[in-house]
Amino acid sequence: MTQVERHTYDVVVIGAGGAGLRAAIEARQRGLRTAVVCKSLFGKAHTVMAEGGVAASMGNVNSNDNWKVHFRDTMRGGKFLNNWRMAELHAKEAPDRVWELETYGALFDRTKDGRISQRNFGGHEYPRLAHVGDRTGLELIRTLQQKIVSLQQEDHKETGDYEAKIKVFQECTVTELLKDSSDGTDRIAGAFGYWRESGRFILFEAPAVVLATGGIGKSFKVTSNSWEYTGDGHALALRAGATLINMEFIQFHPTGMVWPPSVKGILVTEGVRGDGGVLRNSDGKRFMFDYIPEVFKDKYADNEEEADRWYTDPDNNRRTPDLLPRDEVARAINSEVKAGRGSPHGGVFLDISSRMPAEEIRRRLPSMHHQFKELADVDITAEPMEVGPTCHYVMGGVEVDPDTAAATVPGLFAAGEVAGGMHGSNRLGGNSLSDLLVFGRRAGAGAADYIEGLSARPEIAQSDVDEAAKMAVAPFDPTGDGVEENPYTLHSEMQQSMNDLVGIIRKAGEMQQALDKLEELKGRIRNVVVEGHRQFNPGWHLAIDLRNMLMVSECVAKAALMREESRGGHTRDDHPSMNSSWRNKLLVCSIASGDAVVPGIDVTEKPQVPMRQELFELFEIGELEKYYTDEELAAHPGRKA
Ligand code: FAD
Repeated sequence: MTQVERHTYDVVVIGAGGAGLRAAIEARQRGLRTAVVCKSLFGKAHTVMAEGGVAASMGNVNSNDNWKVHFRDTMRGGKFLNNWRMAELHAKEAPDRVWELETYGALFDRTKDGRISQRNFGGHEYPRLAHVGDRTGLELIRTLQQKIVSLQQEDHKETGDYEAKIKVFQECTVTELLKDSSDGTDRIAGAFGYWRESGRFILFEAPAVVLATGGIGKSFKVTSNSWEYTGDGHALALRAGATLINMEFIQFHPTGMVWPPSVKGILVTEGVRGDGGVLRNSDGKRFMFDYIPEVFKDKYADNEEEADRWYTDPDNNRRTPDLLPRDEVARAINSEVKAGRGSPHGGVFLDISSRMPAEEIRRRLPSMHHQFKELADVDITAEPMEVGPTCHYVMGGVEVDPDTAAATVPGLFAAGEVAGGMHGSNRLGGNSLSDLLVFGRRAGAGAADYIEGLSARPEIAQSDVDEAAKMAVAPFDPTGDGVEENPYTLHSEMQQSMNDLVGIIRKAGEMQQALDKLEELKGRIRNVVVEGHRQFNPGWHLAIDLRNMLMVSECVAKAALMREESRGGHTRDDHPSMNSSWRNKLLVCSIASGDAVVPGIDVTEKPQVPMRQELFELFEIGELEKYYTDEELAAHPGRKA
């Protein structure tokens, strides 16, 4: 029988980024005993890296803004593939969630008259991103953590124990979700994992689990994501029997650092362009004017004069195309580089130095100034940055109910980047931080409602615990054919293949090659051997994470091969146009039976639920015609008239 440390909770939240912390706060406020588990140090999550801001239509800088405009922008950004109910809830609730953060102690930058300041970002019609310089995520995490500490202080007053109701398990990786199938319900019963430092196993018994594990960027070679974004939550959900949607849509942020090689991929915030920075090619030309797609022509300026006037007079001018949605800008940069008009290190130039005084740049973009000085020896107040696309965000994730964040497995909930649907085929900048807060809260509430409705707690079978432990230690004693493999080699081959073959521009033949490579790696993973013991052993940790990355990469490649059109974060060289008949289709990933180490993936089509009529009518017929089929538009008043 496996030696394992056991804990019993009502809710286990896996992930301590914005989504996880907000879910935990909600669950605890509903009186539930809540565990927060994170594989990195508490406070080190993707959320803390967020720079530009949180999108919420507070209308502080332009009073024309409201939830309907935000909803429209989000749907447009996602090319109408978004789960419209999520986009609606998000747009309506984001302002309250930002205000709530201030009640927890956050302090956003202010307008001259003392309101929360909001900045421009790609795809947002009005200045909408509440921010703290270019360190917004840090303030968000700091504040949510502070709220948790204050709740723990309340609990201490009542019970004498700070951790009576909410406890954080940091540097603890969950490797498997466990279920109770004994009564035929097949529902969540807990989670199994290990302490990274000691390698000892840990078991959480709980009727509800909230996945808040973030993204999958470490499956790609050039990425803004850090080491822990190995798609664990996506893979845990799949293995538990839940479904993923939209996995073909990966956001390549247009502006990552391209030089020096050691920092390639590190993010350069869109706030640089939001605050006036412009993209130029090697001829010094502001090339984005050449890349305004038909669907956005009425909203974006087609000349420099109007684009520059827009910063100070947005009501009478169209916005700069430097702030087109990210997918458009990333493709434009890619084309300029391919056409031989790139910067010396294979990117393009991002220029803020000629656009505002040095002092102002240092004040508005302190982290960017520091980042370039320290890492690239470039002073952004005096010279342009070199930037290029980097894998940044996954639009796809766990298929959830929009109102409760419930996945298709009873007792499983998901929020934040690990959940799918909200952003459709492309996320607008700033819409992730607001997503975390809105759906983190809803996931905590969803878990609480679910638990209230239970008549009995689920039970975990010892055989399932033994099986999870066996799978975790397998790399110490591989069962393969004797050729020893190194987890780092496999990881690097997978990253290279995903980057080159399922990257920013895709072709059927290349994606098939990537799938063949993944199949090969799935065979080789059985031979992965790790040296040493379970005490802090990064090679072992990677060997475990590799299982997840291989599954998630297969989802991305298979769904991308199936979707024969280009939309948002999915561009097909062999199917370059957007196709209305694909707008209504979700590609749903689930596990196929078979291999227990890295199960295969099935992808099936499913129609989207049609948008509620009053939301549908928020859009002009002329705009919808660019995305919808004639059949779908028959119910629009513009057609009936
Ligand atoms: P994360 O914050 O990614 O947290 C995931 C948590 O899950 C971590 O605690 C991790 O340790 C834990 N975890 C993962 N796997 C396991 C496991 N197996 N067991 C236990 N724990 C696990 N978005 C915006 O809206 N505005 C911005 O300005 C912005 N800027 C960004 C800048 C950068 C550099 C990056 C990388 C992203 C940026 N984003 C921005 C995107 C946004 O930050 C992320 O999408 C968001 O923070 C994800 O939050 P999350 O709560 O879903 O997960």
